[in-house]
Amino acid sequence: MGTLLRLFSTPPVATTCQIISSPTLSFHFPRAANDNNTPSRTSTHRRIHQSCKYGNFLDLKPESQSDELLDFDLSLFNPSDRSRFDVIIIGAGPAGIRLAEQVSCHGIKVCCVDPSPLSMWPNNYGVWVDEFVSLGLEDCLDKTWSMTGVCIDDHRTKYLDRPYGRVSRKKLKTKLMESCVSNGVKFHKAKVWKVNHDEFESSIICDDGNEIKASLIVDASGFRSTFIEYDKSRNHGYQIAHGILAEVESHPFDLDKMILMDWRDSHLGNEPYLRSNNSKTPTFLYAMPFDSNLVFLEETSLVSRPVLSYTEVKKRMVARLRHMGIRVKRVIEEEKCLIPMGGPLPRIPQSVMAIGGNSGIVHPSTGYMVARTMSLAPILAGAIVDCLGSTRMIRGRPLHHRVWNELWPLERRCIREFYSFGMETLLKLDLNGTRRFFDAFFDLSPYYWQGFLSSRLSLSELGMLSLSLFGHASSSSKLDIVTKCPVPLVKMMGHLALETL
Ligand SMILES: Cc1cc2nc3c(=O)[nH]c(=O)nc-3n(C[C@H](O)[C@H](O)[C@H](O)COP(=O)(O)OP(=O)(O)OC[C@H]3O[C@@H](n4cnc5c(N)ncnc54)[C@H](O)[C@@H]3O)c2cc1C
Repeated sequence: MGTLLRLFSTPPVATTCQIISSPTLSFHFPRAANDNNTPSRTSTHRRIHQSCKYGNFLDLKPESQSDELLDFDLSLFNPSDRSRFDVIIIGAGPAGIRLAEQVSCHGIKVCCVDPSPLSMWPNNYGVWVDEFVSLGLEDCLDKTWSMTGVCIDDHRTKYLDRPYGRVSRKKLKTKLMESCVSNGVKFHKAKVWKVNHDEFESSIICDDGNEIKASLIVDASGFRSTFIEYDKSRNHGYQIAHGILAEVESHPFDLDKMILMDWRDSHLGNEPYLRSNNSKTPTFLYAMPFDSNLVFLEETSLVSRPVLSYTEVKKRMVARLRHMGIRVKRVIEEEKCLIPMGGPLPRIPQSVMAIGGNSGIVHPSTGYMVARTMSLAPILAGAIVDCLGSTRMIRGRPLHHRVWNELWPLERRCIREFYSFGMETLLKLDLNGTRRFFDAFFDLSPYYWQGFLSSRLSLSELGMLSLSLFGHASSSSKLDIVTKCPVPLVKMMGHLALETL
């Protein structure tokens, strides 16, 4: 990352007035609550590194490397204790800890293995507030915005009446870990190297040489997992983004609105090469304003295949911030986001169970996953408890069959095909097509667009959504749908037919 940060020449300077005078954005900013991992501005004022080149924030070194640890007494696995576990969970990310919490509260013996279980999660997670409210996790949001904005182009901005929130990684992890600790979950600080299976028992081999046995292994080690098998080629798309939590001199965002997507491209007016690429494979700005000087900014490619170059994403972001007159004084955190989306599900069933990034539950059209993981983990936990907690003692193949089908019952698989169809359609749209698509999408009844984004719609509701979307679409957007969707549509129908056979 360090070398990449220095790759850019200074883009041409643009004026700030276009954005500041935009009727779509206004300027009254109350102070927002600070995240616990955000240094207070008075205490860190000494450490400010001023950016010499106007707007080229890439010269600034991020200050926080997410090395903060949670302050907890974990109950650690004792290698000399030969007792067996019911479930081993590989990974202490949001998926692993949520599942550990949910399974252990039923008295199931769980061991969670991660090289650093007390580390703070590195990513900046955003969710719709209603999703966390329905899960009883609203106390784990550290900032909420009453509205979200979608800038379609220079002339049209849609304000969505659906509150959005930033997850407090610290609060969510602390809440889940506290339950794990009180439910007796053991933690082992190690990396899992290998998983072995006997007929009714499995084991893991860790990089410290320890072997731990359990009836079920659940892999929650994220997108880069090597323990989950696929029987189809993995033709997924990718979401790639560059994000910074930054102290800025000022910014043009209204503090009660987060910007979900800003598709404007006027910042590329003096950048013909970047502009023509952006017209083919567009990126948008995602912005969470915390106060008048603190903002999370992320230049995002919603989905691309092959993946858009990270360097290109960062160049576009430099040009955008400069054009918006956003001068970055400090980069407090930096994140590179790379999310595989869509593609086939893992082979169902298989001996290792999966949850989280490696299990196919990331939304194929948006890349969101946190709220969904929080809501699916209790369902998976229910199936595990039914098998391992019952006197029936279901083990081996019947156990694997049961848990995989609980996570991916037929209807959910079919619905995922529909979302993957959404992704394949987005992959075919250029900037103007994408703008027309979201213009029509956010004109749908909130029941549909909110349900789509939160994976809440049934298959028949998704069918209704498609008809309604077609009805709302402009004539050029209808043409896009008719000319660009048939191939993905036929593929989806083929996959649906295979699923239901
Ligand atoms: C930068 C970024 C931003 C994102 N933002 C959002 C967002 O705003 N909203 C949203 O809904 N989703 C978002 N996502 C998508 C998704 O929610 C996250 O990727 C999420 O962190 C996935 O959770 P997870 O628990 O599956 O995996 P991870 O968070 O990746 O956690 C995996 C854990 O497993 C451990 N591990 C890995 N290998 C091993 C091993 N061999 N042995 C033991 N432990 C191992 C790792 O150390 C890690 O602790 C984002 C993703 C990224 C990359």
